[in-house]
Amino acid sequence: MDSETEIKRPRRVVVKVGTRLVIDTEGAPRWEFLRRMAREIRDLMDEGIEVLLVTSGAVGIGRRMIFEPGKQLRPHERPSAAAVGQPVLMRHWAEALAEVGLTPAQVLLTQDDVVNRERCIRLRDTLEDLLGWGVLPILNENDSVSVESVTFGENDLMAAMVAVAITPAELLVILSDQAGLYTADPREDASAQLIRNVGPDQDVTQYASGAGGPESLGGMAKKVEAARRATDCGIRVVIADGNCDGVLQQAVNGEEVGTCMSARPRMPSRKAWLAMHGMPRGTIVIDDGAREALLQRDGSSLLPSGIVEVRGDFQPGDLVTVTDRAGHEVARGLVNYSAAETRKIRGEHSARISEILGREGAEEVIHRDDMVVASA
Ligand code: GLU
Repeated sequence: MDSETEIKRPRRVVVKVGTRLVIDTEGAPRWEFLRRMAREIRDLMDEGIEVLLVTSGAVGIGRRMIFEPGKQLRPHERPSAAAVGQPVLMRHWAEALAEVGLTPAQVLLTQDDVVNRERCIRLRDTLEDLLGWGVLPILNENDSVSVESVTFGENDLMAAMVAVAITPAELLVILSDQAGLYTADPREDASAQLIRNVGPDQDVTQYASGAGGPESLGGMAKKVEAARRATDCGIRVVIADGNCDGVLQQAVNGEEVGTCMSARPRMPSRKAWLAMHGMPRGTIVIDDGAREALLQRDGSSLLPSGIVEVRGDFQPGDLVTVTDRAGHEVARGLVNYSAAETRKIRGEHSARISEILGREGAEEVIHRDDMVVASA
């Protein structure tokens, strides 16, 4: 760990565990791992740290319960395999946790539950209750109802969203069977070196290659992408090997383990929610003047005068992305006007809004408070 970097002990930690840690290649539970993880979580909780666990494994367990070894699932079979595997996955965790006196709670999510502000708030209340009761929330994607448009895709992103936008945490620990991020895929390149520290502005996407296993969707590229979204919002991330004894304690203490990605300053939770929101309903294209105004540190709101084009069909309150003419995302935020209204007032001075629309309305299309601006 860089001695210059001061690591604050987190009050709340989200731990994400990949399929290959939970079950072996035969689909049998890896009891040694499950028991050790239960103990490590218990130890953190005994120190007053709140823990949420995001676990994969449902699809992998279900696949082995229904099919012969080696069978590749077709995409439409994943949800059904998850329906078979999920209760067994929970049983494995419950058994391991019972040995250290911990009670688990199952929470299954789709991206819809995070994107919809009301459901997101309900979810937050539920998780806060569970944490307050000293129960361990165990989260997974609700694969059996998750269709393409609302899936998180993989649990790395879901864990990042939970840590950023639902139950704000200070640390996200992503555990898999790899020691962290390497300069190349260590399974293919013997000279690959483990990257110990990644700064908040350091681009490491070129190092992150390699897909996940047959039923885990993640892979290192997805881990780094999810991690970056978390660090952008102010959450430190450790990507490490879950088989390493004491990994959680080391990650919490800021000791050298795996790859540590340090964070930017923390974002207020509403802005973090916007930044993590994966499903914009439309796009507003702006001119260079408006782009400059938004990118300034204490920048302005988005006014109709700088808008050159409106794409998609959105309603007031929906999330849209704001891009420049070249298509680069400048910001995203919640609009005050529908797509049809925004088309009518685009390029106009705010003073003309009521005259054009025939009603009073906000002078900005997206207020600064309802917007997150991309880092330049
Ligand atoms: N939700 C899937 C499962 O439990 C895993 C998704 C992933 O690999 O990230 O099997």
